[in-house]
Amino acid sequence: MSFDKIRDPRKLRHQIGHMECDYVYTAGVAGERFYLALREDGKLLATRCDKCNITYMPPRMYCDKCFAELTNYKEVPLTGIIESYTITYFDMDGEVLPEPLVLAFIKIDQTDGGLIHTVGNIKPESLKIGTKVKALFKDKAKRTGALTDIKCFQPA
Ligand SMILES: [Zn+2]
Repeated sequence: MSFDKIRDPRKLRHQIGHMECDYVYTAGVAGERFYLALREDGKLLATRCDKCNITYMPPRMYCDKCFAELTNYKEVPLTGIIESYTITYFDMDGEVLPEPLVLAFIKIDQTDGGLIHTVGNIKPESLKIGTKVKALFKDKAKRTGALTDIKCFQPA
């Protein structure tokens, strides 16, 4: 009789199966305030750590550097700068899109953060890193408290 540990689980009596594992993450305290401000007021909120001189956008409840609780929420501009972008010509099923879709990381003005979002009303060939853009919100009645309450960013 061997007491060697079995290290390959396929050598044990077994059956193969699949377990569905979907996750739902809550927005958290800071995220809840951020999304409510988007939906209700068409505003971007940030939190700031004065000690570390960091403005978090989207807002965070605690400073990443010093772990201080951040309780001062402030409105920040709806404008920012394209720091990085990509252009996609296909949808998630591989079908050709009617128009190319521009996705960008937009650093929001007066903050140290930003958002990944679509950029509209711009010709892909005129895109540049450093282009100034502004958030264009959906009509209030169509907002749901999600990042898609911003229809897109467009040249400012
Ligand atoms: Zn800090």
